[in-house]
Amino acid sequence: MNTSNLTRREFLATASSSTIAAVVSGAIPAHASISKKAGKPAILGGKPIRAKPFPSWPVWDRAAEESVLSILRSGNWCRLQGKTVSEFEKKYAELMGAKRCVCTVNGTNALLTALHVLDIGVGDEVIVSPYTFIATYNVVINSCALPVFADTDPETFQINPDKIEERINENTKAILPVHILGLPANMDKINAIAKKHNLKVIEDACQAWLAEWRGKKVGTLGDLGCFSFQNSKHLACGEGGAVIGNDDQIMDRCFSYHNCGRPYGSVKATSGYPIIGTNRRMTEYQAAILLSQMQRLEKDTARRTENASYLTSRIKDIPGIVPHKLYEGVTRAAYHLYPFRYKKEQFNNLPRSRFLAALEAEGIPCSGGYGPQYRDGLIEAALNSKNFKRGFSKERLARYREELHYPDNDQLCEEAVWFTQNLLLGTRSDVDDIADAILKIYENKDDLAKLQKS
Ligand SMILES: *Cc1c(COP(=O)(O)O)cnc(C)c1O
Repeated sequence: MNTSNLTRREFLATASSSTIAAVVSGAIPAHASISKKAGKPAILGGKPIRAKPFPSWPVWDRAAEESVLSILRSGNWCRLQGKTVSEFEKKYAELMGAKRCVCTVNGTNALLTALHVLDIGVGDEVIVSPYTFIATYNVVINSCALPVFADTDPETFQINPDKIEERINENTKAILPVHILGLPANMDKINAIAKKHNLKVIEDACQAWLAEWRGKKVGTLGDLGCFSFQNSKHLACGEGGAVIGNDDQIMDRCFSYHNCGRPYGSVKATSGYPIIGTNRRMTEYQAAILLSQMQRLEKDTARRTENASYLTSRIKDIPGIVPHKLYEGVTRAAYHLYPFRYKKEQFNNLPRSRFLAALEAEGIPCSGGYGPQYRDGLIEAALNSKNFKRGFSKERLARYREELHYPDNDQLCEEAVWFTQNLLLGTRSDVDDIADAILKIYENKDDLAKLQKS
């Protein structure tokens, strides 16, 4: 059907029909005319939709350069000498609506600190999402605890809360939900399950600064919340992290533990070191950069959210493109990544890898996201480690291996398409380029699939 020949009445009739009708007819409601002028796909030698780059990341200003230099010149580079880390902790806790914050060298070590102070270790089990950055697996394993996966909800990309309870046993100590991609996990259900089974909740909010669940910032909904300030993150300083929480005694332990086990607040000593510690202190430089980056976070987040919802509105009716869903309790998503699912059946079986390559060729950077990492070597390495053999019975480890199948997660890993956050920091017309490129590929799917086969 040549949609450009439709009368207005016919067009409206098409537009109001369902996606199924659109698949059958090949017409795409609301976007009918966009790609007509786009021509041949760039991957087949045509002109790309977009030649200019998307906004770069990170972004900083002269004031940030000055504040880093002033710390250098002061000679007070460590938080024990300076005040900048403490200042950032206070401001970040305020921004999050948490009572306290302790900064760490990075997000991985924020998570390790949270697990340690909540006394999670050898022989314990922690329920995690398989669909996450690998650090979430690593911190549980490095704590000598077993990461027990609950399958992924493919519609939201988050841990499926209805698959958690079946994973709980007498060794389960905590749930470690990840607000992956910056989209909040279902915290109502997770907290209800945790309460029922007396489990701790540690939120991995390392991609979710300012995201909200029912008006409260994620990271404040469980016992402790952990954040990352790594270079690619929305609040970035190269390497950095934080634990936030409302319980003074636990937060005192966080501080003491991250500072070599020195006394702090309620962690008292008559002499020396009252508790086991480590050194995970953030430097003054990191905090100075964070203080300046914090000034742009709200504005950037609003821009990303607005562009993300515009992108969804532009691509949701393209057959084979399934936008992510947000749970009903989500009042704000942070969009560290913008995800959707790609159904190749509606693209004449054009493989996802080819779809991604075609999109890249149109000038739209993209990726297929996480693989089924629980099948990578690290889990087997952990199960075979001395610590795990001592911490868990042979039977438990055998059963664990048998349970290592997460079909919903695997399918999501095959279908996901991601855009990084900086693609959402530009203008509406930048977002239009993304949507137009997807549409162009859809309309040329037959040529792309044919040339793929030959
Ligand atoms: C970035 C990240 C981490 C780890 O943070 P680092 O600062 O890189 O150590 C943990 N979990 C998730 C989901 C992340 O994205």
